[in-house]
Amino acid sequence: MPSPVEQIKARLSVADVVGSYLKLVRAGANFKAVCPFHNEKTPSFYVSPARDVWHCFGCGKGGDQFRFVMDIEGVDFKEALDILAKRASVELVYEDPRERDERLRLFAILEETAKFYELNLSRSATVRDYLVKRGVSEESVKSFRLGFSLPEATGWRTLLEHLQKKGFIPPEIEKVGLLIKNPKAQSAAHLYYDRFRNRIIFPIADFNGRIIGFGGRIFGNATDTVAKYINSPQTVLYDKSRVLYAFDKAKLEVRKSNTAILVEGYMDALMVHQAGTTNAVAVSGTALTPYQLQGLKRLCDKLLMSFDMDEAGESATRRSIDMALEAGFDVKVIAVKEKDPADVIKENPAVWLEAVEQSKDVISFFLERSLEKFDARTIEGKRSIARSVLPLVAKIPQEIDKAHWVAKIAQALGIKDEAVWQDLKKIKSPHVFAAARQDLGVNAPPQKSRLQVLEERLLGLLFARPLEVAEKLNADMFSLPAHKKLYTYLAASERSEEGYRTSFANMPPEYQTLANRFIFEAEVTGFAGIDEEVGACVQEIEREQLKGRLEGLSDRIRKAELSGNTAELGTLVAEFSDASRRLASS
Ligand SMILES: [Zn+2]
Repeated sequence: MPSPVEQIKARLSVADVVGSYLKLVRAGANFKAVCPFHNEKTPSFYVSPARDVWHCFGCGKGGDQFRFVMDIEGVDFKEALDILAKRASVELVYEDPRERDERLRLFAILEETAKFYELNLSRSATVRDYLVKRGVSEESVKSFRLGFSLPEATGWRTLLEHLQKKGFIPPEIEKVGLLIKNPKAQSAAHLYYDRFRNRIIFPIADFNGRIIGFGGRIFGNATDTVAKYINSPQTVLYDKSRVLYAFDKAKLEVRKSNTAILVEGYMDALMVHQAGTTNAVAVSGTALTPYQLQGLKRLCDKLLMSFDMDEAGESATRRSIDMALEAGFDVKVIAVKEKDPADVIKENPAVWLEAVEQSKDVISFFLERSLEKFDARTIEGKRSIARSVLPLVAKIPQEIDKAHWVAKIAQALGIKDEAVWQDLKKIKSPHVFAAARQDLGVNAPPQKSRLQVLEERLLGLLFARPLEVAEKLNADMFSLPAHKKLYTYLAASERSEEGYRTSFANMPPEYQTLANRFIFEAEVTGFAGIDEEVGACVQEIEREQLKGRLEGLSDRIRKAELSGNTAELGTLVAEFSDASRRLASS
């Protein structure tokens, strides 16, 4: 029986999957689109229906259906498998069926709970009035599935009893964080009670919109013993360090606008969406984590952070900013005065939209604030300003961006760039994000050498038409290790269509991606006159290799002359003239 991955690939082509996210336009045998992973105006993103792969020439990303869903949804392989399995109606058998059934039951409990809380809210006029007063629209209540958990006066176990009637048992309800166990209970009936009581409920969903936990805001006033907000605890389904509130609703707009707005709570996220900025997410119950940033980085490069200006210098906010800069985000600040976004929007959504429009680069923001606070004409003032801004600059991974800010700061302080650079170099800060950063973002492709271009072309022809090309090549023609390896993979296979297909399928995925890129490039120019083309490439490669050899030889000749090693000099000169003769006649 084919694996789930094979079944899914058989039912959903890359063009199907990509086409459900992007507008594909036919381009010869392939399709093209504007790449969703980097900024571009003319399409350099290609899909090959024949080979069932995609590749972007602009940013170098490429792969199969799964890679695409992982990148565009910001999920890992297992999650991508889940998404595509559902779309292709393929049952995933890789899971232990008992485990799978249990997960499904746990999701069912959470869904039933959300419905129960929604029903409570629809029946509770006072809570609905309160929400109206806070400016929450009816539509937002519906789309965010707000709910209400009944107060203790109604009973401590209204949810538990409801779920039991639906056939669920307390231990599994406890497993998703909805119950609290009281080990000192007098009777079995009192062993558990509802975690959420007298709270406005904000269901927390995974990237697919499946409910995995809840946040609850007290209805009425918080006291010393009753917290304003409580959340579901960490469970098998709810991993606080990875989930962002409203991510499921924001993801498409985040990708489209290449920007995410990051706010601090449920109410803020909801109101920010209501105001029309639907690319907003919120951290819930934790400080911002590298995992959350990593998820966002797969979808966008820009991060707008909204916080109270007075809190800007506080350590939690500062840590979030540091991490986001380190993650390579272009970080901007939405400055709202002394109020939460929710309050601003309640009063006048236009003020919020204006603040978003006016968002300011985070380093400018801190520079301006410290210029107001300290006197840039005095030495102490200059030092204080540098101390508050340079640690942020130090977090930026791109040297060009760093240089930009160094120049700005130097100008503001009336000193030379060099002095700022020196202070910047002294800053040693722990890189909280460094580990996670490695697989983030896309590095600019380095300048290619002539030899590299030729080898890539040759490999493209080889992989596109192995039957015609393989015989004409050998491993010595490839100088780059990755190219040599690619050639060897193909050369080792049996010389038939089937043999080549098998060895391609057995290559490590990173080599498949590389080969696919070369094939796409070969396809762009076509295969007319492929024999001459291969011949010309081989000849050019030999010439380039000879040139390289001549350069090496002339270096060694110079050294031999300097050291007076006449014996070696003789051999080298002979080799040199031999190589240059061959170059001249090639
Ligand atoms: Zn791209």
